[in-house]
Amino acid sequence: MSAQAPTDDFRERVLEGRRMAESGDFQAAEGHFRMLLDETRGRHAGNHVLAMQSLITLFGRSGRYLEAHVLAQGIARRAREIGQEADVELSFALGAICGALSQLELFEALGAALADLRAVLDRAPTSRLQTELMYHAAAGTHARGCGDFERARTHQSAYRRLVEDADVEDVFRWSLLMGQAQLAFHEGDHARARRHLAELGDGDTTPMFHRLKELSLSVGIFAKLGQTNEARAAAHEAVTILESVREQSGLASGRIHEGSLLAGSLEQLGELELATRVYDLVAAAVLIRLRQVDECTRALPELGLDDDESAAVLAHFRQRFLVEQRQLLRRVANLLTSRGDDYVQALLARSAPAGMVAICAWCESVRPSDGRWLPIGHYIPREGSLDLTHTACPRCAARVHAAWPVAG
Ligand SMILES: [Zn+2]
Repeated sequence: MSAQAPTDDFRERVLEGRRMAESGDFQAAEGHFRMLLDETRGRHAGNHVLAMQSLITLFGRSGRYLEAHVLAQGIARRAREIGQEADVELSFALGAICGALSQLELFEALGAALADLRAVLDRAPTSRLQTELMYHAAAGTHARGCGDFERARTHQSAYRRLVEDADVEDVFRWSLLMGQAQLAFHEGDHARARRHLAELGDGDTTPMFHRLKELSLSVGIFAKLGQTNEARAAAHEAVTILESVREQSGLASGRIHEGSLLAGSLEQLGELELATRVYDLVAAAVLIRLRQVDECTRALPELGLDDDESAAVLAHFRQRFLVEQRQLLRRVANLLTSRGDDYVQALLARSAPAGMVAICAWCESVRPSDGRWLPIGHYIPREGSLDLTHTACPRCAARVHAAWPVAG
């Protein structure tokens, strides 16, 4: 890498790949960009970086944040070796890293990446609109995740000014309103949150996953405002979308976060049956995401990132995801326990339908369809979607039953 510019004919070939992505054929685009990556490795630094950037953008757009993150780290590492003349490449890479980490809600790593990005943006001779937008969006998410609402508002205002002053794509306006609604919700101003959401419109033309985000937040807001009928209607629409996107493994992270929020609101509404179903869908997405970490680790050599640092970052993410999974299972165990001893006993008696994987909410063991109970780390789901149901394994059901106060 250097400040070396990509060649014109190479730019033309990159555009060819972008057109494939725009037509929705992500797989063809990925094959194309990987070919360009192999071709340019060790040959033309400018062309090679452009191929990597195109692949990062593609991964980001298809929800493959882990791959986007490790590739961007590869660029950032090399840009730092070169020094300030590679700042354009460095700010692109850091922007992509911040975007990926905020989608994955890995706030500790995000905080460090944001500080790096701010430093590079501040020493840039000209402002870079897209990267500034990414910075303030990610910094706002980070502040909100850390409970610092004042800092979140500051970033939101900066983001709003950029959006209002410039001719940007609709998705940035959507993000602005969504961010405002989320912040108001977390601050406890539910009426203001509802007003921001209403500004988003009726959702007819909204992409499906954006609609899911709107709905899962709506359910929470309506539930807090005591509008239970509206909350239930939005919840049913949200569950329908969650079901319909479960085949799309790229959306696993989003499904986990939206689903967790939704399940919590459903519990509040007393919709325990629906909450249980949402937890099943979320837990499947958690396992899929763990599989993605392993796949990504295996793919590192192909991406030209066969180094210890990339592998260590993925191993760290895997640990964090396992912690998230444990927290989720505790919520499910509490929910199932709250439904009563009879319910837990019925779970045990009920055999999981064919093709469905059962997971014990108490001890985290997994039973693949007609298999034996295994510790969760020993089970990696194969490709494709995953049907999963929470239950109690025989040992835990007996323990829960014994702990239950005897009736009468
Ligand atoms: Zn168990």
